[in-house]
Amino acid sequence: MAGTIIAANWKMNKTTGQAIEFARGLKDALLKKPVSAAVVIAPPFTSIEALAAEFRGGDISLAAQNIYPASSGPFTGEISGEMIVDAGCRYCIVGHSERRQLFGEDNALINAKITAALNYGLMPIFCIGETLEERNSGAEFTVLTKQVKEGLNKLTANDIKKIGIAYEPVWAIGTGKTATPGQVQEAHLFIRNLLSEMYGEKEAAGVSIIYGGSVTSDNIGSLMAEPEINGVLVGSASLDLASFLAIINFH
Ligand code: PEP
Repeated sequence: MAGTIIAANWKMNKTTGQAIEFARGLKDALLKKPVSAAVVIAPPFTSIEALAAEFRGGDISLAAQNIYPASSGPFTGEISGEMIVDAGCRYCIVGHSERRQLFGEDNALINAKITAALNYGLMPIFCIGETLEERNSGAEFTVLTKQVKEGLNKLTANDIKKIGIAYEPVWAIGTGKTATPGQVQEAHLFIRNLLSEMYGEKEAAGVSIIYGGSVTSDNIGSLMAEPEINGVLVGSASLDLASFLAIINFH
């Protein structure tokens, strides 16, 4: 059975002081009211170590927002899997649409990043999703198939057990335009069936497929009611503690 993941992607937001203040509030709230989902925060790199100290010994995990495939060397501005693990992360977001669109990341690079994350024992949260143009032209499933097949190129059934997939339709990210629960359920079922063809039914059933795209406390309940939605990746609504707690406590 796929586990539930509720992840916050802070993108380029929050100083370390602001991150610590949020982390303390989150930690206190979860001590008072624990949740069964895995709660994951992806802060900017600059706050990872400070948050790792805040979360040490608890149930909240950290994710890096990016990773570089090489283990070390002349890659100015980049961070390796070893450094990410050393700083205190268990997860790593890979292939976010902002990285694909603004930084030109393609499926081959994303595949190398997923492989590097796995090599360091990090769980990649592998982001995929179609643009509005692609959906409007009926190409969404072709796009998802290409992203999954190329992004997971050469990975084994054993690797797939250690990967989470985030379905994030580009048109729903940061736009306030959430995909309907029906659209997300349909896409997740498609992805799961594809994984099943590639790796087997049992392996596919164990993969957490989470949704991202303008998730808020208002729509989380109806999204999570769908059987194929194993959690959410939250951008804007994760920046405010009260709003993120309302998402975590969606029941
Ligand atoms: C994201 O960037 O992963 C995301 C889902 O953002 P938002 O929730 O703001 O749409």
